[in-house]
Formats: sequence, C-alpha cells, structure tokens
Amino acid sequence: MPSRADIAAIIVAAGRGRRAGAGAPKQWRDLAGQPVLARTVAAFGGFARTLVVLHPDDMARGVAEFEGRVTLIAGGDSRAQSVRNALETLDPEDISKVLIHDGARPFVKPDLIERVLGALGAAQAAAPALPVTDALWRGAQGRVAGRVSRDGLFRAQTPQGFDLAAILAAHRNHAGDAADDVEVARAAGLDVAIVAGDEDNIKITWPEDFHRAARMLRGDVDIRTGNGFDVHAFCEGDHVMLCGVRVAHSRGLRGHSDADVGMHALTDAIYGALAEGDIGRHFPPSDPRWKDAASRIFLAHAADLARQRGYRLANADVTLICESPKIGPHALEMASELARNIAADPSRVSVKATTSERLGFTGREEGIAALATVTLVNT
Ligand code: MG
Repeated sequence: MPSRADIAAIIVAAGRGRRAGAGAPKQWRDLAGQPVLARTVAAFGGFARTLVVLHPDDMARGVAEFEGRVTLIAGGDSRAQSVRNALETLDPEDISKVLIHDGARPFVKPDLIERVLGALGAAQAAAPALPVTDALWRGAQGRVAGRVSRDGLFRAQTPQGFDLAAILAAHRNHAGDAADDVEVARAAGLDVAIVAGDEDNIKITWPEDFHRAARMLRGDVDIRTGNGFDVHAFCEGDHVMLCGVRVAHSRGLRGHSDADVGMHALTDAIYGALAEGDIGRHFPPSDPRWKDAASRIFLAHAADLARQRGYRLANADVTLICESPKIGPHALEMASELARNIAADPSRVSVKATTSERLGFTGREEGIAALATVTLVNT
C-alpha cells in the first residue's frame, strides 16, 4: 500500500440532496444504524488529512459526529466551490495528492482507493469508472426516439485522485459549477487516467437506493450454525446437573467436571459455530484444574469467545435424551439458566427433552445424551 503520509482525502457532503425524498439530507440519513456520511468517512482511514465538506447549516451536527477525527469545512454555493473551499486549506508543501469523494458513496472499498492511488503514481489525475453495458436510448414523450452508441462511454465514480497543486490551480481557474472534479481537471488540460470502478460503489441518490444499500449491508451478515453432542453415563448419586439446574434423581452422572451433559452440548455447539474445536481443546481433561469444575465456566468461555469475535447468539436449542428424570417440569428453568450464563435473552434459548422409546443406551437408562444447535450472527 503506498504511503498515505502526504495524501489528503476530501469528502464532499454539502449538498441538500432532495432527490432522495423527504426528511434529512441523504448523507445524514440512517443506514443500518449509522448515518450514510459516517460510513463514508470510516472508509478513508490512514490519510494525512481527512476533510469533510458540509453545508453551513450542518456544521454543528458534523462536530457532534466527527469531532477531533476530521477537519470540517463549510461548503459553498456549488459543488465546485465546496471542493475549492477544502482544497484552499491544504498546503502543497505537506500534501502532494488528494482524493475527492462523494459523501453519498458509503460502499467505497479499500481496493478501489488503492487502484486510484496506484494510477496517480504515473498520472496527474485518475478516476474510477465503469463501462456502460446497457443499450442507450434517447427518449422523448415516453417513446424511444433513437439509439446512442455506448462505445467509449463510462459511468464516472469517485474517489477521483489528483496532484494537489494541479487540481488546486484548476479549481482557481474554473468559473461556475462542474459535475465532478474530473470536469474541472480536464477544463485545465489535465490528463485523467481511468481505473476500474466497482458496481457496489453506488451513489445514494434516490429513495430506492436506500433499500439497495440496506440489502447490500445485510449481505455482509455472517450467520454461523454449530452443533454439539454429548453423553454421560449414570453412576451412584442422588442428583444430576442438567443445563445448570440441579435435579434430584436416584442416580448421578459420571464425568469429568459436573457432567452437565446439556451444558456441554451447548458449549460445543458454540465452539463449533466458531470453528474453535470443542471443550476438550479449551479445557483439557488431563488438566487437574478442570476436575469437578462447574460447566458454566466452559459455557461462559465459549460465549465470551463468540462475543469477542463480534457474534451474538440468534438462538440455541438443546434436546436432552433420557427416560428419566422427567425434564418437562424443569425445562423453562433450564432454558433461563442457560440464557443467564451466556448473557442471552431467554426467549432465544430452548430446552426440550425426548425419550428414546426404551431403545439404546438412553432407553436402558445407562446414561443421558444431549444435542444442541446454535446460530450466531455477527453484529
Ligand atoms: Mg461432557
């Protein structure tokens, strides 16, 4: 990655953008819990300077959102004037290149920024664009009036990158507005290299663009499912621990730790969803520290690991397989005990039971088996 120590990023968000419908200007509208502009600004990390150009009415809001992280610039009467206001604050002695980006393009990816910067090494200006692939028509009064050749036509995107001294001079000499900074640069005779754009780098303009943007963000959701299975044999005793609840019984369960077969299955399901092995990997039975340890320690460890990785529990479903003891009277308490141990909402945790119709080892009442399934979602 080229050094960004002498490169500035200017994010232009001074427009009122009424085409996106009623309500706040589009750059301030919420997109999955964050203003569009906050997402855009977050995409530009590591630059020597990041400048955000705002409508003068939005300066207080900008301070509240970005205080101390970016330089806020009051925009002018036109897009070109807004960009110029920002450029005039940069010193070509410190900054050699500048990227200028639309605040309403929050999906700009690091590799697109790198492509523009890479092309800037050999050109005074570089900008991303996509070739036009749809047929182009000219229309009038709701009728097709002719076809336009798409040969050599591109859809322009941002960030557009420039040699700072060159684009500053171009803006100073440019009268009136411009659709973008490439127009200003070309009017000054600069050569602009085209780099490959990105279909996801949409400019949020119309109300339906918000729906598309929300769909794209949902596409980033990482959903993971894990399963766990465990068995413990009965032994002498007067109670069993199942899903964190002590249940009186004519026998106990044999095992390392407290032999809580339900909690073990759930713990393994969480580790499984994270591709993190099983309880044995994290708490080796050969380690005397874990002899007779409460299984809630294992479960809490798995749940913490999931949280550290950015996952929350969407749901957990545990099935206990035994002829006895009767689970039904304890199932709700077990579910709420599991939920408490993983800091989940109890409505997301289920505990149920079945017999195996007197078949197999559970049917012969030699032990208890448990199955668990969990779904984790990144947040
Ligand atoms: Mg076990």
